[in-house]
Amino acid sequence: MTKEYNVTLIPGDGIGQEISAATQRVIAATGVKINWEVQEAGADVIEKFGTPLPETVLKSIRKNKVALKGPLTTPIGAGFRSVNVALRKELDLYACVRPCKSIAGVKSHYRDIDLVVVRENTEDLYAGVEYPGGSPEADEIIKQAKGKIRPGAAISIKPISREGSCQIVDFAFTYALKHKRKKVTAVTKANIMKYTDGLFLAVAREISRKYPQLEYEERLVDNMCMQLVQKPELYDVLVLPNLYGDIISDLGAGLVGGLGVAPGANFGQNSAVFEAVHGSAPKYKGQNKVNPVALILSGALLLDYLGEKEKSEQLYNAVIKVIAEKKAVTYDLGGTAGTSQMADEIIKKIKE
Ligand code: NAD
Repeated sequence: MTKEYNVTLIPGDGIGQEISAATQRVIAATGVKINWEVQEAGADVIEKFGTPLPETVLKSIRKNKVALKGPLTTPIGAGFRSVNVALRKELDLYACVRPCKSIAGVKSHYRDIDLVVVRENTEDLYAGVEYPGGSPEADEIIKQAKGKIRPGAAISIKPISREGSCQIVDFAFTYALKHKRKKVTAVTKANIMKYTDGLFLAVAREISRKYPQLEYEERLVDNMCMQLVQKPELYDVLVLPNLYGDIISDLGAGLVGGLGVAPGANFGQNSAVFEAVHGSAPKYKGQNKVNPVALILSGALLLDYLGEKEKSEQLYNAVIKVIAEKKAVTYDLGGTAGTSQMADEIIKKIKE
């Protein structure tokens, strides 16, 4: 009997609906049977549920233990905090994995890039502990800082714990072993942030000793940016605290030709959520224009996670072929095809 999987689907907003529909169709073409439990989240549902992240969404993911998620818009400056960040925190999806692998046919200044960014997902400056300038909390911290902070400054807190650091660094080494990688590089700014990044680095050093079969090295994040631009081939798996991980993953996406082809996944002890690196690109909403590949490749990672390795590879290879042929690709890859036409072509390749 064919196995069936229950998977939560959050289509998201902006371009989310279009790319989620495309991804559902290509996954169906692989023959893997998925019962999609569709859940709404984001700005569009606030009126209906009173929150951008209804409890039903979390309940569904906790039950199914796996989800595919389209992008969700976060208003800049004012309004609610990021639903993406809240989701990762609520489900303790502590590890964000973003593979950056060159794809033949995707325009890039670089070739043969094969990096994996492992980003801590729950701590650091994304913890959401931030105080506006002039607030009693900010003023109290300024008082304690004894002249190191200008009066009236807004304050953001950067928590880095031993437990959180252990979890993510151990995840990076385990991932490296499982995926037959050779080297893990810990990336921090520990020379400046001696207690926070310093702790992350100390933990990375400790844990690296448990994995003598893997090479281990360290870089400061500013130098890492330059190294990735100049000699990315030297790097393999990178493990970073949240903020640097966020920035370096976009840099990695840039090395392989842009956000349209960059997949991602978030892992916790009990659940996993798969999503593209890119956001909701609101200006392209409803135009059937954007590239569905980043979410489709996130779907391939999801199949692999479900244990459908062969189908995952089949999907990945179909995407690679369609991009290499350049016959039916979206604008960002130099073509004129729409989102759904590109998905149709990928389906054709799966069925060939
Ligand atoms: P974005 O990734 O949405 O878009 C930036 C630009 O990249 C787009 O204008 C477009 O030119 C290009 N692009 C993105 N995805 C593409 C695709 N699939 N195909 C072709 N081109 C693509 O980044 P942004 O404009 O900074 O963010 C828009 C919103 O998305 C913000 O509210 C942001 O907070 C949110 N966001 C959400 C997530 C998430 O849900 N995980 C991630 C990043 C940003």
